Amino acid sequence: ALYRAKNEGRNRACIYDAEMDAALSNRKLLEGDLREAIASGGLRVAYQPIVDKSGEKIMGVEALCRWTHPVRGDVSPAEFIALAEHSGCIIELGALVLRQACLDGNAWPQLSLAVNVSPLQFRRADFVDQVERILKETGFDPARLELELTESVLLGNVDSAEAAMLRLKALGVRIALDDFGTDYSSLLYLRRYPFDKLKIDRSFVLSIEKAADAAAIVHAIVGLGRGLGMKVTAEGVETADQHLFLRAAGVHFMQGYRFGAAMPAADIARRLDEEAAPHPAGKPTALAS
Ligand code: C2E
Ligand code: MG
Ligand code: MG
Repeated sequence: ALYRAKNEGRNRACIYDAEMDAALSNRKLLEGDLREAIASGGLRVAYQPIVDKSGEKIMGVEALCRWTHPVRGDVSPAEFIALAEHSGCIIELGALVLRQACLDGNAWPQLSLAVNVSPLQFRRADFVDQVERILKETGFDPARLELELTESVLLGNVDSAEAAMLRLKALGVRIALDDFGTDYSSLLYLRRYPFDKLKIDRSFVLSIEKAADAAAIVHAIVGLGRGLGMKVTAEGVETADQHLFLRAAGVHFMQGYRFGAAMPAADIARRLDEEAAPHPAGKPTALAS
């Protein structure tokens, strides 16, 4: 009950009940299984294509962690990443994903590789050293690596976050601000920190066709990003209409089910081969740039 009250915010009281106990022990069990999966190679990394504005050409991929639990089946990243953060094993998980992504990414020299970084990872004093070590060990070109941070990384952590970002940039690594529009969306942060890219959260993309305000916000974010010299990626692009709107709005890159969900490394290699081969007759013509 104490944990529940703390989790749900200030000035709350929660009464203990048996269901709560079950949920807690359930979480403890899952946490143990996650540790086991991390230690025994039970996690996988999948890759989602990131395409240019025409939607035709893969420019990069985002590495996304996957866990198939032996009994429960696929666990959603939202659930197990939160669990890993809560229990501290996000540090090992993050290192594991980065290393695997660099190893797989070596096979696609033409693509950039985006990897998510948890605030808990980023705040560690040895984070940049760890990135540097993994780049060396895997031989991955730092100029092709893009680390995705969220704004919560920056909260109350202004100077050390800036120092870490500058060190990463000195290595040649690029930095993207993920899920833009969902957190604080502080303009001060955008000016102060050397982000190379903004990723517009998919909640805005989802609402483009339904709500005029979402469309206006997307236009404003693109203008802001471009004005500050950043690249802009739209996340969660699912329909042709969204694609057309975003392209007209000036988005540089797009990511979403319209262009492919996260897939195993081998499927990315296949996509690249197909892209390099001449289009067979009868293939639907894609949107011209
Ligand atoms: P994210 O970094 O914003 O990743 C994009 C999420 O949107 C992915 O969810 C992706 O599968 C989903 N997505 C992509 N296109 C579409 C679309 O067109 N429609 C819809 N409905 N969804 C789409 P996923 O894989 O479930 O990951 C969720 C979040 O978990 C990620 O959000 C990221 O914050 C976190 N995550 C995943 N892998 C890692 C990791 O290795 N480390 C850390 N720290 N976080 C990770
Ligand atoms: Mg991301
Ligand atoms: Mg995102």
